[in-house]
Amino acid sequence: MKEKIITVIGSLNFDIIFKQQRLAVMGETYSADNMTITSGGKGANQAVQCAKLGATTYLVGSVGRDVLGDQLLQDLADYGVNTDYVTRVDATTGVGVVNALEDGALMATISKGANYAMTTERIDEIESLLKRSSIVILQLEIPIEVVEYCIYKAHSLDCFVILNAAPAAAVSANALAKVNCLVVNESEATFYCGELIDDLESALKCGRELYDKTGELLIITLGKNGSVLFDAASHDHVKAMEVESIETTGAGDSFIGAFACQLLDRKEIAAAAGYATRAAAITVTKIGGQPAMPTLRELEMSVP
Ligand code: ATP
Repeated sequence: MKEKIITVIGSLNFDIIFKQQRLAVMGETYSADNMTITSGGKGANQAVQCAKLGATTYLVGSVGRDVLGDQLLQDLADYGVNTDYVTRVDATTGVGVVNALEDGALMATISKGANYAMTTERIDEIESLLKRSSIVILQLEIPIEVVEYCIYKAHSLDCFVILNAAPAAAVSANALAKVNCLVVNESEATFYCGELIDDLESALKCGRELYDKTGELLIITLGKNGSVLFDAASHDHVKAMEVESIETTGAGDSFIGAFACQLLDRKEIAAAAGYATRAAAITVTKIGGQPAMPTLRELEMSVP
């Protein structure tokens, strides 16, 4: 029996974000202007955005038996994410190092750590949760074979499956076809389409081909250029909001979390995309991922 539950299956990372003028070159030690430490990981971020917007949200993942894991679990609980299905394993908690430049460009490196301790057996263990979940959200910061297994399982249990295929990695055609909604940014779209996608025009040119490989809906997010949505019949460009962007970490996660919340509330796709665009715009006006994501109240107050 389906309930109004979003289950996010994915990574939890401890993010270290350096705000800097430029990247270091090979062999150089470069001093960043400042540093922020924050709880992150695409899975955790998307779960936090869902919970901050009031959805009943479960996160399924793994952290180490270390203080970083303690901190991540505490933060998730504070945001209202149910962490009953986050296991503690004998590996170090995932860590992400983000280099954020003045113009908003980001470069990130993540450790595999505990996130890669996720197994297909874990997905079998959460079958009762999947049976109850209306929406399942996945990303690619856990082993691909676990993601693919979960897509099949969630699909067979009648969940609406959202795959944020990030960071870009090969996903089997069969699994991709079972995804209801595929979400990628420009660089991921470039990987999956095999052609450079760096603006609306190139996204429109290649998006249809990528759409044909997946389920019902494809979303390509284009940073400050908004996003483009493809369904079977047409496409729709949703402009980003004009805001003063401070740091874009978690913009995509905020967009996906907010979009999923609207689908959970059975909103139309266009309305959901507008809502997600507003949520992501608020997120980019503040430092950090999870702390910057809007609550339901903040988002409601932002309506022009
Ligand atoms: P991240 O990896 O940082 O989570 P992403 O690369 O997955 O982000 P983007 O395409 O950069 O995702 O952004 C997602 C959405 O956030 C965009 O579709 C847009 O609606 C919003 N957004 C991003 N940057 C800006 C900006 N500078 N101003 C307003 N909205 C923005």
